[in-house]
Amino acid sequence: MFITFYGVRGSIPSPGPATAGYGGNTSCVHVQLADGRHFIFDAGTGIRALGKRLMEISDPLTVLLTHSHWDHIQGFPFFAPAFQPDREIIVCQSLPREDATHMGALQQMNGHNFPLDLSRVPSRIRYVNEPTTFFRGEDLHIERKALNHPGGGFAYKLQEDGVTFAYVTDNELDPPGRHATTYDQWVEFVRGADILIHDSQYRESDVPQKHGWGHSFISQVRQLASDAQVRCLVLYHHDPDRSDAELEEVRLETEAFFRSHKQTIVTVVAFEGLVLEALGQRSGDAVLEVRGSPPKVKAARSSK
Ligand SMILES: [Zn+2]
Ligand SMILES: [Zn+2]
Repeated sequence: MFITFYGVRGSIPSPGPATAGYGGNTSCVHVQLADGRHFIFDAGTGIRALGKRLMEISDPLTVLLTHSHWDHIQGFPFFAPAFQPDREIIVCQSLPREDATHMGALQQMNGHNFPLDLSRVPSRIRYVNEPTTFFRGEDLHIERKALNHPGGGFAYKLQEDGVTFAYVTDNELDPPGRHATTYDQWVEFVRGADILIHDSQYRESDVPQKHGWGHSFISQVRQLASDAQVRCLVLYHHDPDRSDAELEEVRLETEAFFRSHKQTIVTVVAFEGLVLEALGQRSGDAVLEVRGSPPKVKAARSSK
C-alpha cells in the first residue's frame, strides 16, 4: 500500500512563506492498494495536483469523502480526470441523508458556485452511499465510524493485504455534549493500525474558544495512538495559522512524548509530498517505510 499526501491543511488553503514547507493545500490523500486500485480520501485543494498525476493512467478511481465542508470538497471541480470522457470515478459523498439540498463535492458544480454544471462533466461518475457493503467480498475490507464533528461525517478504516490504514480527520476526541463515537470506541476502531492519520488541528493555546468546533488537540491524538498501539501516527489537518516552525516544534514534542513513554510509534507530521509505503503479506514481510523528509525548518522553541 502506497499512501501519498497532496493536501495536509485544515479549514482553508494557507499558501505563503510561513507554510511553504509543510504545504498549504487542504485535505487530500491518495492510497494505492497492493492490487493496484486507487482510493482518494477527500477532495480538498490538494486533489488538483493529484489529478494531473493520474492523467498518466486510465484506471478507475474511487473518491471517499469524510464530509462536505469546503476544505474537503473544493478541489473536486479542478480534478482533471473528472473531465475525461471514459474515466470511471466512484464517489462516496457521506452526505447527511436528511438534507436533500445539501451541497457536496458534485453539487457545487451547478453553474453558480462553479462555472460548469455537473451535466457537462463527461466522466462516468457513479455514486456509492455504503462503501462498506459495496466493496464487501473483495480482498478489501472498509469500515466507517461517525465523526465527532459539526454536521457529521465518517472516518474510514481500510484493510488490504494485511495492512490496516485509518483515516480520521475532522474529529474531536473529547467534544462537549453528545459523542457520536466515544474515546474508547475510537481506541477500538484504530487499535493496532499500521497507519493512523488523525486530525491534529489544535494545541492547548488555541482553545477554549474552539472547543466544540470538531477538531482534536495534538496531545489527545498522541494519547490515542499510544492507547491503541498503532504502528505509525500521522498528524494531519494542520491549522491554517500553524507555521512550518511550529509544526517542526510539534514533531519534536511528539517524538519526545513517545520516547519518554518508551514507545516505538513512528511519528510523522504530514507534509505535501510525503509517501508512506506499507508492505503487507504479498511481500512476505511487513515493512513500513517513510519516504521524503520533513521540510528543513527550525522549531520556534526548543522541545520539552
Ligand atoms: Zn476540515
Ligand atoms: Zn470539517
